[in-house]
This record gives sequence, structure tokens and C-alpha cells, in this order.
Amino acid sequence: MNTDVVIIGSGIAGLSCAAILSRYGFEVTVCESHSIPGGAAHSFERDGFKFDSGPSLYSGLSYSPSPNPLRQVLDAIGEELPCVTYNTWGCCLPEGDFDTSVGAEQFCEVLARLRGNTAVNEWQNLQKIMTPFASAAVAIPPAALRFDLGAAISIGRFAPSVARHAVNVAKLTGDFGRIMDGAVKDPFIKNWLNLLCFLLSGLPANDTSAAEVSFMFADWYKPGVVLDYPVGGSGGLVDALVRGMEKFGGNLMLNAHIEQIIVENNRAVGVRLRSGKEIRARRAIVSNASVWDTLKLLPSGTLPEKFRKSKQATPECDSFMHLHLGIDAKGLAKDLACHHIVVNDWSCGITAPQNVILISIPSLIDSSLAPPGKHVIHVYTPGNEPYDLWKGMNRKSEEYAQQKQQRSEVMWQALTRIIPDIRERTEISMTGTPLTHERFLRRNRGSYGPAISARKGLFPGPGTPLKGLFCCGDSTFPGIGLPAVAASGMIVANTLAPLQKHLQLLDEIL
Ligand SMILES: Cc1cc2nc3c(=O)[nH]c(=O)nc-3n(C[C@H](O)[C@H](O)[C@H](O)COP(=O)(O)OP(=O)(O)OC[C@H]3O[C@@H](n4cnc5c(N)ncnc54)[C@H](O)[C@@H]3O)c2cc1C
Repeated sequence: MNTDVVIIGSGIAGLSCAAILSRYGFEVTVCESHSIPGGAAHSFERDGFKFDSGPSLYSGLSYSPSPNPLRQVLDAIGEELPCVTYNTWGCCLPEGDFDTSVGAEQFCEVLARLRGNTAVNEWQNLQKIMTPFASAAVAIPPAALRFDLGAAISIGRFAPSVARHAVNVAKLTGDFGRIMDGAVKDPFIKNWLNLLCFLLSGLPANDTSAAEVSFMFADWYKPGVVLDYPVGGSGGLVDALVRGMEKFGGNLMLNAHIEQIIVENNRAVGVRLRSGKEIRARRAIVSNASVWDTLKLLPSGTLPEKFRKSKQATPECDSFMHLHLGIDAKGLAKDLACHHIVVNDWSCGITAPQNVILISIPSLIDSSLAPPGKHVIHVYTPGNEPYDLWKGMNRKSEEYAQQKQQRSEVMWQALTRIIPDIRERTEISMTGTPLTHERFLRRNRGSYGPAISARKGLFPGPGTPLKGLFCCGDSTFPGIGLPAVAASGMIVANTLAPLQKHLQLLDEIL
């Protein structure tokens, strides 16, 4: 079989890349190992409950034009994404339990109550400091980026806005910790900012890129801001991307595990599936697998050894524990927030295992996700569960079952703070470990993604020294999360497209 471009993996990055390439007129084949598309953002169903495997927090999807690259991909392929909007989330912190809203104002009320007026002044001062950084962070839209000399023209279009923010653009290259430490003394605000950074990048403030945090400030603290939840959950989003790609002729193959990238004459020319079938690519292979998983697909000697070693040594975030529950909703408060963050102890550090727990009850705002009178719940410890605790365990063993029970207890306890009788209400319960994560998401050691500190240089980007091989996904663009990975997919598609077509697309979506 022949095609223009083979994409390995149907994560949000792979699908974004495939959708834009199809829109540009390329013949695209996406090979996904799993039986469900979406990678870390796929949905699955059990007994009428529709579960999100991963993401729960979305923004910038319910309106256009939006600075969110994922929305820009959807705009480029003309796909609607119906969203429910909301603005409140629950916090269970060592200081106490409370609801807070996105937007700058309500958080000041929380601060006044918890920390007093000095803290409020510090927060407002930080908002002022961040305002020009936030404008600078959106001065160059990721949709304008491409990985060749044409970038001078596609990015050049935004030169006036870059020039206006030039000083601040330069300051965005470092870590956010410097900005935070210069502006904030209050320990609670520092803890809070470290938490937001951790949720954004899997790293604390002094390792998170100032550009990523500034983008978040631009998004979360603008007037009238709301959070979004795609109707149908992450599956609704994946369906929209697949629909858009197929509309332009793209082809998605499920249960299509790639075993090897075929290299001939120092060029990636195709892929070999586990079934033995080969697919040849006239133009390029794009790997959406993580950096570590991509290396496993390349025959030895096809990459310079120095490059291979440096990629293999990419530091990685830890993995996850998951609880997926279907519960009886009878008598639950109607105004319960659909998302909650639980932090057990600030003093042990924001990345400490079992310390931060996220809870999502999306059927509170999208009733299509659960049978009538029920709710669907996803609880997880975000990127803080050490893989080594699970490495080599037999998933059928008693030892594994016991450890699962032991390590999931922290999620049950967190949930009990929100729904005290949760155990009695539970009708379906599935516990996931780093081994589940590794197996179903095809991710090396079940990792959340690379842990590249903003103080230690630039993110790797989409190129490789092997001709015809590109990479997209969370290993190639800073900021683990849907906007970043959609941007990474779009950048590879733009790089393969003729400059003129790229410029036309920019005119349409921005
Ligand atoms: C629990 C959890 C919660 C999250 N919460 C949020 C959130 O609230 N908001 C947010 O923005 N982000 C969130 N994220 C992050 C976000 O989901 C990920 O960053 C993003 O989905 C990663 O997309 P990707 O395309 O880079 O990679 P992946 O989703 O990992 O996709 C890679 C794909 O490649 C496939 N693949 C790998 N190897 C092969 C092979 N050899 N052959 C064929 N196919 C292969 C895999 O099966 C997979 O489908 C969360 C992630 C998790 C896990």
C-alpha cells in the first residue's frame, strides 16, 4: 500500500497533523495501535458510562478565533465542537475546602479570606506584571510556525506584533520561577502558582517555561473567561478531528500497531505493521509516539549514535494512578463543581507522589456521559506515580492487586472529601496503574511526557537527522497538554505543505 504520509499514532497531535495535511491535499494514513483513537485523550464505555481516559480541563475551544491551537485545527478543517461552558472548580487544600472561579477577580476574594490584603496586592501586582508577557506569548501564533526557511515568511507576517512585544518575547525564553520569585513573597500564592505550573507542564514553577505560563495567564485571567468541556468528553473532540480528517480524504487504521519504520538509503520510506503488512510513504513518516517509543521503532544504525543517546536520555515525568467510577447520583448536590483539585501537603513539594489528586465528574455538566440518575467520575494522580514501584509486576498477581488497592486509597480519600458516601454509591470501579497507562496508551513507562526544564535549554522540535522522518506530540513542543500537542501536529503539517498553501490557511483561521 502507498500513501503520501504515514502517521504513527492517533493521539491529538497525530490527528491534528493528519487533519491539516488532509486539508492541504495530501493522502494521509494514520496507523493507531489501539482499537480506539485519541491516545491519552481517548474515551471508552462500560455499561452505559462514558469515561475519559485522560484530559478533563479544556479552555479556548468554544469560540473562534481562539489562541488555542486545537481550536485553530478544528477551524482549519471546518469542524464544530459543541462545548458546555462553566467557570467554577473545587479546591481541597491544606488551608481548607472552597470553590474558585477562573478569572482574576474571584481569586482575590479567596486570597483576602485566606491570606489577607497584602497577598491580594501581591496577586494584583503579578497580574500587572504578567499582562505584557501574556500579550507577548500570543504574538506569534503556533499556526504560523514551520520547520524550514519558509518560517521567515510565515512568522514574518506577525513581525509588527512581535516588534511591539519584542522586549517581553525575549524574557519569555526562561523559566517562570524567576518572574514569580521577583513578584511574590506570600507562601500560599507561591504554592498555588507551583500547582498551576505542575498541572501545565508536570514540573514546578522554576522548571516551567515562562512562555507557557504567560499563555495560560492570557487564557485564564481575561475578562469573561470560561472553561469548556466538549460534549461527549474527550471522545467528542477525537470524533471531530477524525471526521474532519476523513472529510478531506484521510484514512485512520485502528489495531494497526507499527513494529518498525522502514529505512532505505538513509531515508524513512515506510512502516511495517505487526501484521507484517507494509505501508510505503511517498513524502514522510510522522511519529506521534513519544520520543522513547519512536526510538524503539528505528532499526539500529539508522540514527547518529549521539542523537539517539541524547533522545533516549530525555528526562521523563512520572506516571499516573486512575480511578474510573460509575456511581448512583441520587441526592447529590446539584451545584457540585465538576472538577476538583486536592492537595494533601504543600511542604512535601508539588511533584511528590500521592500529593496532588484531580477529580472530574463531567456528567454533572454533560448528562450524555452517564445513564439517567448516575454520574461518571475520573480521579487521577497527575504524573506523580513512580513507574519503578510497578515495574516488572505481574498484573494478575495478588501482590499487584494489593498494591493497586493500597496506592488507590489516596484517591478514594480525596473523593470522600467531596462525596462522603462515595463507596456506598459506587456501581462500577476500575483502577488504573502505570502499567495500565503503559499498556493502553502505548507510552514508555506510562510516562506523562518529557520533563524538560525551561532552565536547561530548548524543547527538541519536530525534526530528526533521518530524512523523511518527523515527530509530533508532547515530546516535541513545550507544555504537555492538548493545545501544545495540537500545535506540534500543525507545525509538522505546515512544514510538509507548500508555503503558499500554509499562508492561505493562516489567512483563513487567524
Ligand atoms: C490522566 C491525564 C489527564 C490529562 N489532563 C489534561 C487536561 O486536563 N488538559 C490537557 O490539555 N491535557 C491533559 N492531559 C495531557 C494530554 O492528554 C496529552 O498531553 C495529550 O493527549 C498527548 O497527546 P499526544 O498526541 O502527544 O500523544 P498520545 O496521546 O500519547 O498519542 C500517541 C498515540 O500513538 C499511538 N502509538 C504509539 N506507538 C505506536 C505504534 N508503534 N504503532 C501505532 N500507534 C502507536 C498510541 O497508541 C497513541 O494513540 C492529560 C493526560 C493524562 C494522561
